[in-house]
Amino acid sequence: MTIRIGIAGYGNLGRGVESAISQNEDMELVGVFSRRNPEDVKLLNGNVPVHKMDDIQNFTNAIDVLILCGGSKNDLPEQGPALSAHFNTVDSFDTHAKVPEYFAAVDASAKPNGKTAIISVGWDPGLFSINRLYGEAILPEGATYTFWGKGLSQGHSDAVRRVPGVRGAVQYTIPVPDAVDRVRSGSFPELSTREKHTRECYVVLEEGANPEEVKQAIVTMPDYFTDYDTTVTFISEEELKRDHSAMPHGGFVIRSGKTGEGNAQVMEYSLKLDSNPEFTSSVLVAYARAAYRLNQNGEAGAKTVFDIAPGLLSPKSAADLRKELL
Ligand code: NDP
Repeated sequence: MTIRIGIAGYGNLGRGVESAISQNEDMELVGVFSRRNPEDVKLLNGNVPVHKMDDIQNFTNAIDVLILCGGSKNDLPEQGPALSAHFNTVDSFDTHAKVPEYFAAVDASAKPNGKTAIISVGWDPGLFSINRLYGEAILPEGATYTFWGKGLSQGHSDAVRRVPGVRGAVQYTIPVPDAVDRVRSGSFPELSTREKHTRECYVVLEEGANPEEVKQAIVTMPDYFTDYDTTVTFISEEELKRDHSAMPHGGFVIRSGKTGEGNAQVMEYSLKLDSNPEFTSSVLVAYARAAYRLNQNGEAGAKTVFDIAPGLLSPKSAADLRKELL
């Protein structure tokens, strides 16, 4: 039995889902849906048709799980509730503060229609969230630390690009090694924002722009940079293309605690990703398997990674998992 997958929205994640499905033999991509003219959407392999998003209702019987690859800011708040009324869905909604209201909207639409919708899947939120939960549940006395990076931050890169005089830019978030070491040592440090991460910007200037003015505008930008030690390095257009086109990311979730007799215990989970979107897409695909199985068992409504048993992610049977991985 092959799980038939559809992709809604074809950007970085859509492309990543297309390539991830080719690594999973129990899944088959049946179509891609886009708000753009299908002829303008160039697929990685191009083995499936691209359809207009407006026609998606014609495919309710052809798709077992629809993977929503739209952006969290503008696309998913609308697409998540609309599409989960007709399809089992998985998405990577990552606006942490708005998860409760998004969950409620998707649940209200999926549940009465008997659909299963797993929201906020990926690595953060997603795999990091699970590890924060394990840390707190297992070591109730302790502290949880999340460090991100080294990684390219899309939001911060966009913010730098909006500064007058900037033609192109990328921004990397970098954990401060000393802070990570102090956390790992089990000393429960209280760390300020500035002590945990630094920010590195690589900027291509517009012709005639004043580098010092651009730098000041960046490092003093409220919300984005004022609370951090930020470096700004000016580079050429060629260097930006050559050295900064990949989208690496990753980080650590560390729980440092003490068990009943006072022994120090440190739990650590880390990711080092050459491509954030390709990895996130691979997580989405594994959770699509879980969405399919939950729906087969009649479990409708919105879910998060906290609600999904790990065995449901694997193509292996429960018996094989007990034999091979326990
Ligand atoms: P993109 O900007 O690449 O794609 C978002 C949407 O924009 C697509 O679905 C597509 O919709 C549209 N689009 C893409 N390319 C073009 C284009 N050339 N012209 C016009 N429209 C285009 O976003 P990503 O795929 O990189 O990321 C999607 C979301 O994933 C992010 O907003 C982020 O919140 C989330 N994310 C979550 C993570 C997690 O760990 N939970 C990690 C990484 C990302 P259409 O085809 O309909 O036009």
